[in-house]
Amino acid sequence: MKPAAAHGLLLSSLCLALCCRGGARGSPTSDSHEWKKLIMVHHWPVTVCKEVEKDCRDPPDYWTIHGLWPDRAEECNGSWPFHFEEIKDLLPEMKVYWPDVIHPLNHSHFWKHEWEKHGTCAAQLDALNSQKKYFGGSLGLYEKLELNSILQKLGIKPSLNYYQISDIKDALASMYGVVPKVQCLPPKQGEEVQTIGQIELCFTKDLRLRNCTEPGELGESGRAWGPGLEVCEDGPAFYPPPPQSTR
Ligand code: 5GP
Repeated sequence: MKPAAAHGLLLSSLCLALCCRGGARGSPTSDSHEWKKLIMVHHWPVTVCKEVEKDCRDPPDYWTIHGLWPDRAEECNGSWPFHFEEIKDLLPEMKVYWPDVIHPLNHSHFWKHEWEKHGTCAAQLDALNSQKKYFGGSLGLYEKLELNSILQKLGIKPSLNYYQISDIKDALASMYGVVPKVQCLPPKQGEEVQTIGQIELCFTKDLRLRNCTEPGELGESGRAWGPGLEVCEDGPAFYPPPPQSTR
């Protein structure tokens, strides 16, 4: 299938994916928490472990969900606490696709954090206005985006050889039809290159794919989304294999 056709198909199925999940609750909007785009943040578990300098025993060998984040808004409703009960039907998928990579024995603290920091802002949208809809909708977007199989198809696999960041961005842009954002850990002392950590794909408020940065818009160079992660510099980058396959 040509990329443009794949893009059209993707858009309609992404909307469908959101419409079919979750139950509703009133919208907790606040004018001081305005945002324009939603960012679907995928992270590479091997890099998450490296970032926090934790020797994770068995990190997933696929891209998992970090979160679904509105831009420019955080912690929009402190009086809407996380209730695990509301998403317990989603537990099997959550554990696989949205695990706490750092604390794999207790995921719910991470989910609580994501809900309170980002979900309460995303919940301004009718399609995401409950915990079940926010987490279920995020899972739906993740499944429809199929980042893991798209990277596979593009031949972009963890490797001891380096990739050019522009090659990865261009390849993803041709598949999705929009400009993604790729975040890296800058090289630590003694390292030659940056390490790929996050791939972000962005959505409009009506849940259509859009560019993460518009042509001519300045990238958010230097802006850290997590400790140590920054927009990747153009140039070579390491996409680290999971520990067992580095042998
Ligand atoms: P945010 O707080 O905006 O959701 O994301 C940034 C934070 O998430 C950073 O502090 C980063 O270390 C943390 N983080 C990234 N991945 C994980 C994870 O899998 N589990 C936990 N507990 N924290 C994570």
